[in-house]
Amino acid sequence: MKKPLVTIDGPAGAGKTTVSREAARRLGYSYVDTGALYRGLAFVAAGKGVGPDDQKGLARIMANLTLKFEKDKKGDSRLLANSRDITDHLRGNEVSMLASAVSALPAVRQWLLDLQRNLGRDGAAVFEGRDMGTVVFPQARFKFFLTADPAVRAKRRHAELVAAGREIAYEKVLADIITRDTNDSTRAVAPLKPAPDAVILDSTKKTVDEVVESILALVHEIHE
Ligand code: C5P
Repeated sequence: MKKPLVTIDGPAGAGKTTVSREAARRLGYSYVDTGALYRGLAFVAAGKGVGPDDQKGLARIMANLTLKFEKDKKGDSRLLANSRDITDHLRGNEVSMLASAVSALPAVRQWLLDLQRNLGRDGAAVFEGRDMGTVVFPQARFKFFLTADPAVRAKRRHAELVAAGREIAYEKVLADIITRDTNDSTRAVAPLKPAPDAVILDSTKKTVDEVVESILALVHEIHE
């Protein structure tokens, strides 16, 4: 029997990446960070001077762009844009905001839909994003919606940016997270919201391990 898909959706800074990666590792599944695809497109567009409002420019870029995940020697996932490894350029605050803006465009979401479904066709994967359980994999066997208080999410994201050597004030990170949440949950196409059959997990007062345990407990209970 094909192994199932696990989807983890939720707002920025809820801990999706760490939790999804660890859950995938412990399940022996692959892990797919779909936010990296939106970030990848935003980064490539910015490099060509194409802003998120320039729909024609974006269409031209999408027509000539192939995004592909590849594993490096350590087994970490890298994102290639037409064979160029752009992974190290994706996590900055500017790219986050641009990704949120381009991700509201229906043409962009459509462009990434087949690519994401293709990555999930063999099952045995944890997919992280905003619309995994609602739009991309509505048939997924295990759906989670991971959230946390905005102040806690901003604190985590700020620590991550500072650790990566970026200078940015906590207040700016909080304001940007709130803007991104509003963009992501109010857009017309595939807005951020829990699938009706998703299990809601609040990580405000939980460690990564505790959240991962809750996910694995459910997957094992139902699947074995
Ligand atoms: O998850 P991450 O913060 O890397 O995602 C960056 C942006 O990409 C999000 O703010 C959201 O606008 C967009 N995104 C999306 N759908 C997904 C994954 C990410 O719209 N499945």
